[in-house]
Amino acid sequence: LNQYVGFDSITRQIETKLLKRGFQFNVMVVGQTGLGKSTLINTLFASHLIDSKGRVDAFEQPRSTTEIHPVSHLIIENGVKLRLNIVDSPGYGEQINNENCWDPIIKYIKDQHSAYLRKELTAMRERYITDTRIHCCLFFINPTGHTLRPIDVTVMKKLADVVNVVPVIAKSDSLTLEERAQFKARIRDEMEYHDIHAYPFDSDEFEEGERELNERMRDLIPFAVVGSERNVVIDGKTVRGRKNRYGVINVENENHCEFNQLRTFLTRTHLQDLIETTALKHYEAFRSRQLLALKESSA
Ligand code: GDP
Ligand code: MG
Repeated sequence: LNQYVGFDSITRQIETKLLKRGFQFNVMVVGQTGLGKSTLINTLFASHLIDSKGRVDAFEQPRSTTEIHPVSHLIIENGVKLRLNIVDSPGYGEQINNENCWDPIIKYIKDQHSAYLRKELTAMRERYITDTRIHCCLFFINPTGHTLRPIDVTVMKKLADVVNVVPVIAKSDSLTLEERAQFKARIRDEMEYHDIHAYPFDSDEFEEGERELNERMRDLIPFAVVGSERNVVIDGKTVRGRKNRYGVINVENENHCEFNQLRTFLTRTHLQDLIETTALKHYEAFRSRQLLALKESSA
């Protein structure tokens, strides 16, 4: 008698279905104007496309950022579709009075949760709700080598309450390796001191390997990145890089900066978890608050 029922293929079935439908990944970049946000985004995903021979449409982005608007890109890699939405945000903390300068950014994130909830609650549920919730917020830190600005602490804390925050040290080519290591440690200390809960989080369901990976990531974060939209030739090979007075920085060389580690983190090791954590942690928290408020107002 054949005992094999075959339900183990369900994982493959689900996978195939999911892969066909494709998935959506929404990234927001936050930080002062001029820290290289647009450049890094272009470096991250443009080079990804080049080395993966993927396809993309509308890979165009307006240069100045005066309001919050997502730009959508379609990436196809080995038949897998990824709808990548990049949300650029206006630089904050640049006015004389910076009170509530983070409001539009936080509001944008909450508005996406609220739109999702509205669709979930409508009687005729859509089969697949378009997901515009921000899965990852890349927070750009000025490479001063000193401490975080008070306003950065405030904004990062507000963000961490509603979204997965991944801090990066912008333009890290301006720091020596020693300064960089010290700055990273200082930022981690400050975040702990101010009780800022950045991504990644551990879950009870995690296996040993996943815990270890997250432990390693927490030792690495904030990623010290360098971005460039220019190609340079190093040893006859064309790479993304920056030429300065002293030499050439190869953006993808792990001895030069942590661009590669960030890219692996975002697109390989933590893509699914960023999406899941958004739904299970941030959105759930929003949802229960909203439903509670609804109940109270109708009681
Ligand atoms: P945004 O305002 O944060 O979007 O910043 P941009 O991406 O427009 O970059 C501002 C300027 O910084 C441009 O001249 C970039 O070429 C430069 N830039 C971007 N990334 C880096 C970097 O990693 N290192 C250095 N040294 N300059 C950078
Ligand atoms: Mg920009």
